Amino acid sequence: MPKDFLKGANDSYDVVVIGSGLGGLTAANILARNGLQVLLLEQHYKLGGLATWFKRPGGHIFDISLHGFPYGMVKSCRRYWSPEIAESIVQLERVRFDNPMFSLTTTFDRQDFTRLLTSDFGVAPESVDRFFDAARGMNFYDDQSKTTRELFDEYFPGREDVIRLLMEPITYANGSTLEDPAITYGIVFSNFMSKGVFVFQGGTDKLVQSMEKEMKSSGVDVRINCDVEKIHVGSNGIQSVEVNGRTIKTKAVVSNANLRATIFQLVGADKFDQSFIDEAQAVRLNNSSTQVYMAMAPDDTVPRETGDLLFSSTAQRFQTDLLLDRNITSRTFSFYYPDTRPNGKGRTLIVSSTNANYNDWSGMSNAEYDASKLDLVDTTLDALEKYVPNCRERIVHAEAATPVTFEHYTKHLDGASFGTKFEGLTVSRALPDQIRGLYHAGSCGIIMSGWLGTINYGVIVANDVINQISKMAATSPVATR
Ligand SMILES: Cc1cc2nc3c(=O)[nH]c(=O)nc-3n(C[C@H](O)[C@H](O)[C@H](O)COP(=O)(O)OP(=O)(O)OC[C@H]3O[C@@H](n4cnc5c(N)ncnc54)[C@H](O)[C@@H]3O)c2cc1C
Repeated sequence: MPKDFLKGANDSYDVVVIGSGLGGLTAANILARNGLQVLLLEQHYKLGGLATWFKRPGGHIFDISLHGFPYGMVKSCRRYWSPEIAESIVQLERVRFDNPMFSLTTTFDRQDFTRLLTSDFGVAPESVDRFFDAARGMNFYDDQSKTTRELFDEYFPGREDVIRLLMEPITYANGSTLEDPAITYGIVFSNFMSKGVFVFQGGTDKLVQSMEKEMKSSGVDVRINCDVEKIHVGSNGIQSVEVNGRTIKTKAVVSNANLRATIFQLVGADKFDQSFIDEAQAVRLNNSSTQVYMAMAPDDTVPRETGDLLFSSTAQRFQTDLLLDRNITSRTFSFYYPDTRPNGKGRTLIVSSTNANYNDWSGMSNAEYDASKLDLVDTTLDALEKYVPNCRERIVHAEAATPVTFEHYTKHLDGASFGTKFEGLTVSRALPDQIRGLYHAGSCGIIMSGWLGTINYGVIVANDVINQISKMAATSPVATR
């Protein structure tokens, strides 16, 4: 008989959270801390969503999306998780760029970027200051018609090298392009520039395990291997969810699943107004990624000067479509030195990440797909040779993940790495106006994606749910009697 992963679960909860990405985990934790009965349902056998890791024989532990986030994570983790989690966040000291236009290493903060832009790139200090102030002054409610390309043209006309320095890491960080609204760039860029790029020391496994412990002590009922099939809606809003053959009643659902999957698969288009569905249909998914995971021999490592995060490219110019091209010219290498996991086995690991299109990888025969993955590993080793000499002899394990892999493990449509493009955020926020009790907290809209964006979005949405449930309690017949 198959194991019952819902054994002992109640028949009803105040809130059901679907998905255990960082947005879902954070929302669940805040809701439970506020006294609500919360059920968290994750379809995978592991919590974390894209914030995940995997182990390979030889003591290798690979992180999937632990490459860098802004300093704001310290505050968010301290407030919404625990001081211990916040205290494990450490800065990456060496962010390196290597492309035909320039090669440099930076701490990736305003001070160092100002130094580079004025001394190495020869930009007037006033222009640099004005640009930083303009980016820092941006917020979500500003004019959305100006594109990132127009923003750059205003401050650095004709300077493709400057644009490359400013844009390449952000495109990698959230998939945004020069054609996206300037605010999506300005907000994310300024977040990074406040203090630099940070990671979680101890690895994603330690982070997610700490979060699980914290969530359980807040009272969340956490269930893995629970694939939600349907969200049921009645005339008064959310009624229940259907999962592993059970129907569980709830006042509210927070879906951490992909936004489009939430609307079109879990709820169903017929439950929304036609104008809303038209808007939702127009929401574009963000791009996906490929990755190559490489482990060095147990007693081998690379000098720290190699960098922590290396944006390498052989493309003559920066073009966002080239970043997605199947013929890869740009790779971001993350170097995980032994101190990434101070209590680990002292391994040095390298992960190469590249933005990618789902359609370039889906629909292949098994043989073609396997051959393409081997080719991805092979060409990545060729590219790595420049930074890690003799890497083919020194790497003892290498394997690849593709957009199809990301889709498989997270159910993100088209394996989207960062949810949806900008327009997804308005649709995500409008869900409870369409169906009482239906919320979405997960990567969307570029701003609300990435580790920090999704954690903060989880908090915002949890507060919305708390307000709704207290309003329902105040107007229910029991409360007024
Ligand atoms: C290769 C790569 C590198 C990245 N690097 C970085 C980085 O360096 N820094 C950074 O800040 N961000 C990075 N990101 C992005 C970041 O990982 C994500 O934005 C963030 O983790 C997404 O969190 P989320 O809350 O949206 O949920 P997700 O992580 O998308 O998780 C959604 C969860 O919902 C579950 N689910 C879906 N459908 C159902 C269902 N029907 N029933 C039950 N469960 C369901 C899934 O299994 C999954 O666990 C990277 C992403 C990728 C792919």
